[in-house]
Amino acid sequence: MEITRGVHLIQTYANCALFTDGRLVLVDTSVDDGAKDILSFVKKNGYAPGDIATIFVTHTHPDHVLGLKAIKSRAPNAKVAVHKDDADYVARTKVYPGPPGPQRHDPVPVDVRLEDGQRHEGMLVIHTPGSIALLDTERKILVAGDSLNNEKGLGPMSDQYNIDPKAHRASIKKLANYEYEVILFGHGGPILKGGAAQVKALAGRL
Ligand SMILES: [Zn+2]
Repeated sequence: MEITRGVHLIQTYANCALFTDGRLVLVDTSVDDGAKDILSFVKKNGYAPGDIATIFVTHTHPDHVLGLKAIKSRAPNAKVAVHKDDADYVARTKVYPGPPGPQRHDPVPVDVRLEDGQRHEGMLVIHTPGSIALLDTERKILVAGDSLNNEKGLGPMSDQYNIDPKAHRASIKKLANYEYEVILFGHGGPILKGGAAQVKALAGRL
């Protein structure tokens, strides 16, 4: 689904985003360890998987990281960018202690260890413990990863999947302070207008 020119939402079990203007930037890799849906989406839109320049992984949960190895093997020059708190779990150099349990993806080295407030590939990195969110400040698009959920209306992720439910709620309040219209979620359909106002209203209820 094309959200706006050059920004696509790939709807799979966990949604991914693909930025195609000037360079290919993929956000998240979903749950299929063959990454079939993502690879066919890339091809259907006229690109080769090898054109992917950067793969952001918002967090180390299986539904966001399981496709990484398959994509990286078809895009060997792509740089993998992960927040520094999750990088060792994605690379499998440390044992992940949180829900939903032990990691089972193939290890992939992380090239860029992201920090809160950093700009990378035109995106502002917002650390929201348990995930990152990426803000395209120019187009006012927030790629929320699992920092928010929109499966049954806008709300927090279920506590059972969250490494720190309290920090998760604080993150939602943090996200209320930025400016954006569109929100793309790891889980749930996109919000296409008035995103920040809706997050602000949600933050006020938490
Ligand atoms: Zn998820």
